[in-house]
Amino acid sequence: MNILEKVKHYACAQPLVNAMKSGEEEITYQELDLASDYLATYLDNTCGENKSPIAVYGHKSVYMLICMLACVKSGRAYCPIDVSVPDLRTQLILNKMDSPITLAVEKLQCQYNRVINIEEIKNIIELQTRGISPDKWVKNDEVFYIIFTSGSTGEPKGVQITANCLNNYLDWSVGLGSSREKKRGKCFLNQAPFSFDLSVMDLYTCLASGGTLWALSKTVQSDYCLLMESLRDSQAGIWVSTPSFAEICLTDKQFDGALMPELDTFLFCGETLTNDTVTKLRKRFPQSKIINTYGPTESTVAVTSVDITEELCASVSPLPVGSPRPGTIIQIRDKEGGDVPDGEKGEIVILGDTVSSGYYKSPELTKKAFFEVNEEGHIVRGYRTGDEGFLNNGMLHYSGRIDLQIKLHGYRIEIEDIENNLLKLKGIEKAVVIPNIKEGKTKSLSAYIIYNGEITEPFDTALALKRQLKQFIPDYMIPKKFVFLNEFPINNNGKIDRKLLGGLSK
Ligand code: AMP
Repeated sequence: MNILEKVKHYACAQPLVNAMKSGEEEITYQELDLASDYLATYLDNTCGENKSPIAVYGHKSVYMLICMLACVKSGRAYCPIDVSVPDLRTQLILNKMDSPITLAVEKLQCQYNRVINIEEIKNIIELQTRGISPDKWVKNDEVFYIIFTSGSTGEPKGVQITANCLNNYLDWSVGLGSSREKKRGKCFLNQAPFSFDLSVMDLYTCLASGGTLWALSKTVQSDYCLLMESLRDSQAGIWVSTPSFAEICLTDKQFDGALMPELDTFLFCGETLTNDTVTKLRKRFPQSKIINTYGPTESTVAVTSVDITEELCASVSPLPVGSPRPGTIIQIRDKEGGDVPDGEKGEIVILGDTVSSGYYKSPELTKKAFFEVNEEGHIVRGYRTGDEGFLNNGMLHYSGRIDLQIKLHGYRIEIEDIENNLLKLKGIEKAVVIPNIKEGKTKSLSAYIIYNGEITEPFDTALALKRQLKQFIPDYMIPKKFVFLNEFPINNNGKIDRKLLGGLSK
């Protein structure tokens, strides 16, 4: 069964079980299936032959989920855009999408040809017009969703994931940690907004196993009291987050097994999981499994996993990121593209049945990062991750990046994305952004700037520039420190000496 068939199956088998809860809102499997059918019928009638993807704008509302499923049931990919994305960046995405309509669960400030707002969405659902049949659904080899991620040009790039990739991924993820049977009907914790691919791990693994998604809104996540209250109320059995989020929770003493007695599995992805975090978690949740997974959005969330047992945590540091799922091959390649021997570092290359079909409307970028090989008559897609690592007896170890992409508090950022957006601000002639790294993790960012405007007070100028920059990029990408320089140091190759600037920011 594919994911849409599974949702239909649970709508019949357990119609009154909640598929999702978010704050005061909740929706059962039956309601979700019906509402998305009604909206899909409308989309099919309205968009006709135009099969362009549809942007869905909002946050953690159950309507966001209805809209996403309605798009794919109408045969169109959806592209989730979270409210935390600044308007100008949302506009860039909408322009690129160029679809006939946009579904706006939250108020959309951007200019767009046809926006269907939440009142209209509710009215359409209330009309209960049904007519969509499974043969209209997105086909296996068609794009199911597009997730935009930071791009080095200063514009986000859209990773296209087909229904096949998602279904192949889910066949594996439903068995991750606890067994399929143990997962059935469980509550999954959702931390990441739907516009980040980490959310696919909880959202669709949950729907594929008939569970209930417990979505933590950004308001809840920004208030410790609300957060702990929500975690307690959730009765979550499966935890899905970045390690950074768990580290924030660990700073609160209430966060332990007594708060969440049902919790039996932690699933981590997206950034380095440290031995220290695992040790602290195990003290608070001695009965739970802790699983580290690894993968980029381009290969559908995660492609490797490893159970971080007490013995492993005590004997290996840094921790490994796991062995590949069935259907994935991990290769380590040198600069020339040749295989490197076990134990030696090189670029991590992912091949297999969850690798994306490429970046949306970006053939050049797609050609650079993706490739195809013929394996015994089958075409297999590959993706050059830009990650550095090594294999040791089939176990993958991650050791960093070969380019300027970083992870900050779990967010993927291309440093050039920030630099190119800084250059859009009046007065900035040159900009270099440097990550401040402590214990192997980026803790904050510093911007080094050559500015030709007037600086009366550097603090005030920095504040004004930060405010302007927020129009273009999300808050998590805004450098904390701004340093004004007359010129940049140059290295022997005649390039800006980033290493030296990095030294300055310590
Ligand atoms: P994203 O596309 O946002 O999921 O980010 C993908 C990138 O996050 C990868 O290319 C890695 O650089 C990093 N990453 C993902 N999983 C891990 C992990 N378990 N440990 C360290 N880095 C990770």
